[in-house]
Amino acid sequence: MSNPTRPAAPGNPSAFAIAVESGLTGLKAVSTGTCPGCEICRADLGFDTVAKLEAAYEAGKVVDEPFFSQSPCECCGSRLGGDREAAHGIESDGSIAHFHVCVDCALYLANGDEPENWEG
Ligand SMILES: [Zn+2]
Ligand SMILES: [Zn+2]
Repeated sequence: MSNPTRPAAPGNPSAFAIAVESGLTGLKAVSTGTCPGCEICRADLGFDTVAKLEAAYEAGKVVDEPFFSQSPCECCGSRLGGDREAAHGIESDGSIAHFHVCVDCALYLANGDEPENWEG
């Protein structure tokens, strides 16, 4: 499957790129950070309603704080504990998928940078 938003990597895709691709199967428009329309972000950040989250988000008052977790990354599947950030994609039915990604995936989704020492 080709991804028109990113130039093809030279040579074969890395184990990391393959893991990410399979972790994100079926999701479109994946991006990291808080999504102001997301119910799970609302609950995670302690807002009463999505409208309040949206207002705070638009005022620049929502800070994306990574949190520490020992759970596997929900994107590349890395089992190393570490910082996780919220990320979102759009499911095939149009709903928002909320998941958490490791810092390697956050960088990759933001810039296309692959980690040098990734262990799945
Ligand atoms: Zn969310
Ligand atoms: Zn990851």
